[in-house]
Amino acid sequence: MASEIYTRLQTLSFTRPSGTAEERKAAAFLAEEIRKAGFEPQVEGFEYTHRVPVRAEVTAILADGSERSFPVTGLIDSAETTESGETGEFFYLKSFDEVSLSRVRGKIVLLHDRLSQKEYRRLLEAGVKAYLTTSGTVRDTYENSDLETARFRLSAHGLQPLPAFTIRMIEAVELLRVKPVALRVVLRLEEKTVASQNLVVTVPGTDKAAETLVVGAHYDSVPFSFGAWDNGAGAVEVVQLLSALKQHPPRRTVKAILFGSEETGLRGSKAWVKAHEGELPQIQGMVNVDVGGSILGKEIVFVTAEDEAETWAKQLLREVGYAAVTTQRVMSSDCAVFSDHGVPSISMGQGAPRGGGYMHTRYDNMDLISADVLEAEAAFLAKLVLRLADAEVFPIRRRIPEKLRKDLIDYFGKEQSAAASLPPDEDPSLPFHF
Ligand SMILES: [Zn+2]
Repeated sequence: MASEIYTRLQTLSFTRPSGTAEERKAAAFLAEEIRKAGFEPQVEGFEYTHRVPVRAEVTAILADGSERSFPVTGLIDSAETTESGETGEFFYLKSFDEVSLSRVRGKIVLLHDRLSQKEYRRLLEAGVKAYLTTSGTVRDTYENSDLETARFRLSAHGLQPLPAFTIRMIEAVELLRVKPVALRVVLRLEEKTVASQNLVVTVPGTDKAAETLVVGAHYDSVPFSFGAWDNGAGAVEVVQLLSALKQHPPRRTVKAILFGSEETGLRGSKAWVKAHEGELPQIQGMVNVDVGGSILGKEIVFVTAEDEAETWAKQLLREVGYAAVTTQRVMSSDCAVFSDHGVPSISMGQGAPRGGGYMHTRYDNMDLISADVLEAEAAFLAKLVLRLADAEVFPIRRRIPEKLRKDLIDYFGKEQSAAASLPPDEDPSLPFHF
């Protein structure tokens, strides 16, 4: 017999990208499930703008003068070409070595993977005109793959975008085989305002109600993905947690937030933190769930807090007998937004073995979802949240250590990170703090 949590995830497992009717449908479904758990969710709407591709073309000009066009998409928030496009010699930039970089001036390059800040700086310095990155694997077929919609993220680091495209790996191979003498690329973007929503449930605390613990999970998916693993699982686990909190009212106030639009740049958590800035000093910590429920792979607990918090998390795992690895780092999810504002966070996630999970693709569906794993994760989430919410003294100090602040600034970019302006970190090892 399928469990309730599994059935919930089954219903939620449909493509629900940021700002779409499907995302609203998912929010409406989750709101209904929250009501069944005995709470009334608040729907908090928000808006953001980004520049989305409305026209993206890559045409190879071959040695015999013939042309061949390749299906591509443009990177959100990258740069436009003119209406008629840009033409440039084609270059395959296999690596960022000096020989390759000496040959790319004025050219349109094919490369792989997401660019680091350092690599992108070198690309700009080398005078590249536009670039293509790849999506998918060489084993894809055209019919069984989708073009990933990526975003140019380095503007926050003060870096000028270039016209940037995504091409399927199989088409990139083809592009190399036809040996183009030049490429003509067209990219037109349009500013779009996106409306999305967070669902917020306040579970009032009993005797420590002035202190708040936020528990969050995003419920949107990327286009093409059913978002069962990432992160319908987390959303239904938070709903399950609410049933546990109904049975056992927490001492501290618990604010459960199901975030919209995480996949387009943590938009839901950013909007929430902005709208509730005055409440942040009351928030002692944030527990996040992003990615879970798969029959394959290991459980991971990400700790964005001081060393002692990771020790505490490890101790809790031993105590309750939950098999997971811990790691102290910034996790790319809604919890990072809270930690960037000084709130320590713990995020539950799941890592797939190589070949055993395809995040942000059409293969993130119910096929690998296990009711047992969902139940186990939800049970641990409830223990973690209740342990934090009911502790006499909150087990995690409200500080972000220096090394993680640096990582947060690096993650969000100097111009957008709030961590840069946090009050100086007080080292708790100094005796006068006790
Ligand atoms: Zn996610």
